[in-house]
Amino acid sequence: DGRPRLENEVGKIAEVAGYLWQKGWAERNGGNITVNITAFIDDEIKALPAISDIKEIGATLPALKGQYFFCKGTGRRMRDLARWPMENGSVIRVLDDCSSYVIIADNPVLPTSELPSHLMVHARQLERKTEIKATLHTHPIELVAMSHGKKFLEKDVLTRLLWSMIPETKAFCPLGLGVVPYAIPGSNALAEGTLKELEDYDVVLWEKHGVFAKSTDIMDAFDQVDVLSKSAAIYLDCKAMGFEPDGMSDAQMKELSQVFHLPK
Ligand code: 13P
Ligand code: ZN
Repeated sequence: DGRPRLENEVGKIAEVAGYLWQKGWAERNGGNITVNITAFIDDEIKALPAISDIKEIGATLPALKGQYFFCKGTGRRMRDLARWPMENGSVIRVLDDCSSYVIIADNPVLPTSELPSHLMVHARQLERKTEIKATLHTHPIELVAMSHGKKFLEKDVLTRLLWSMIPETKAFCPLGLGVVPYAIPGSNALAEGTLKELEDYDVVLWEKHGVFAKSTDIMDAFDQVDVLSKSAAIYLDCKAMGFEPDGMSDAQMKELSQVFHLPK
């Protein structure tokens, strides 16, 4: 029976939504979560009728045919999603044309405005047959602040800096942080930039906006953003104390990679 497993998954999404609010990363309706829940869809859920009109995705994504997603609702608050997930999010089914969807449960809550980014990334994971099911967009204060500094936006400058603040950041965010140049929220340009950068990273920084993360489950997507954010806060605390942090040395970083068997 898929229902209890689906409810357990939605429970994890609600838990993460609460963390995002507590972290101060989710002002008003800021941020969004989507999770591919197709594995939890049993025949009973499959038989549910559409409770919305047919909506366009804005892209044709053949890999998504017949896939099901839980999506935060557009304009909805993370702090509300934490307490009432099925009132502030909904389950959608992608239709056979692969370019549209309907809402099937529980309420006709329109999905997040960042759906193009989320669905393009999910489609890519299915094409590549990865285990990645969860995508998260949020507005972590320190990381967004750093994205306003041009010098941080060159390839892997921020990755190295954040890794060197505390050993665990490299261990638990082993691919580092990609950078997506500023684009209008909800746009296909933002989605395409995100898709491209996520080929090489699990977490990407949206310049002057936020971050976008992908992972096997929503808790790990949150954890990766959390460790990067911790490093960014340590960097900024050093700057606030009036000095540039030394960071771990190259030798210390190399030793860490060997001991923890890290890819880079
Ligand atoms: P939604 O409320 O549409 O999910 O948008 C929030 C957001 O952060 C857009 O980038
Ligand atoms: Zn946003």
